[in-house]
Amino acid sequence: MRTASINLYDLTKEQLRQLLVSWELKPVHVALLWNYLYLGLAGSLDAMPDLPPKLRARLAAHTHFGVLPTAFETDSSDGFTRKYLLELADGERIETVLMRFTGRVTACISSQVGCAMGCVFCATGQMGYTRHLTAGEIIAQAVHVARALRTAKEPHRLRNIVLMGMGEPLHNYDAVMHAIDILRDETGLALGAERITLSTVGVVPGILRLAKEKRPLHLAVSLHAATQVERAALVPAARKWPLDELMAACRTYSETTGRRIFYEWTLIEGKNDTAEHARAVGRLLHGLPAQVNLIPLNPTAGYGGAPTRTDAAKHFQHILGEEFNIPSTVRQRRGIDIAAGCGQLATAERA
Ligand code: SAH
Ligand code: SF4
Repeated sequence: MRTASINLYDLTKEQLRQLLVSWELKPVHVALLWNYLYLGLAGSLDAMPDLPPKLRARLAAHTHFGVLPTAFETDSSDGFTRKYLLELADGERIETVLMRFTGRVTACISSQVGCAMGCVFCATGQMGYTRHLTAGEIIAQAVHVARALRTAKEPHRLRNIVLMGMGEPLHNYDAVMHAIDILRDETGLALGAERITLSTVGVVPGILRLAKEKRPLHLAVSLHAATQVERAALVPAARKWPLDELMAACRTYSETTGRRIFYEWTLIEGKNDTAEHARAVGRLLHGLPAQVNLIPLNPTAGYGGAPTRTDAAKHFQHILGEEFNIPSTVRQRRGIDIAAGCGQLATAERA
């Protein structure tokens, strides 16, 4: 019976209003309920004392709060990163990460249980695909982080969301976009367009759909290699969506939306981190509004590669900037001691 009940986190404010109307209750109460959910971060009816009795009875009978219990949590030794392993109703587990960098609080959230894309260096890819997350399960992760910040009486509230956890968000397009609509609601979590970044392995139809729908978000594309052969060896999904088609889609996206794309590049020693590789990516991105995010590899059990050393990463960055005028960052490997790479905590807990 519980499975047939409605997860409140699945609903936009308008859908919640329609639900109340279908119950012949006053739609005006929707604001009260919504505020309890997303401003009060209430996780149960008990935490909503002012609800009218009829509404409370309906909610108790037909809905539930899709709060995700913490199966495990761990802090990085530098204290900047906290990683949660959250349990879904069917017993599956996903990762959500809270990151605090210079006062900006960001939640890194998952879009699937596992991933079908099979990137060779990625712990989630090594797990394989189990299922999509629902919009409510995506929202519950953001609420979990917002609530954790409040419980700890932290001075900062949740400001940014990156869809860079487990899974490929454009493989679960509808649920992810529905969740983004709920995240953006200004009367709720209020995570506006500038605050949400979606990272994709390069699902070409998804990128073109984002462009067509002019979805307000930042787009990050995981590139990792500048030739089709090298990329397909790291990212099997490149066989389905070849590099030239991907770059054409990125160009269309930037032209249609006027937005710059972030290109992610996992730096693997000797594989994709030489000066020649830097020049190849410089040529590939020439003329496109781009920023490159360089991420030294987090080693995983299923892949033998090593991370690029700091000096080589800096050299790579220097070439992009000096020779091609492409801005780039080298992501600090914060929290590496808690297996901060995508999917790595879930893998460790399974072992
Ligand atoms: N599926 C999406 C988003 C999740 S992965 C995507 O692939 O873009 C988020 C980023 O982490 C991607 O750029 C991915 O390539 C990178 N990543 C995955 N495993 C990694 C590892 N072990 N070390 C460094 N970066 C990794
Ligand atoms: Fe999936 Fe992204 Fe991992 Fe590739 S890097 S397997 S697309 S989660």
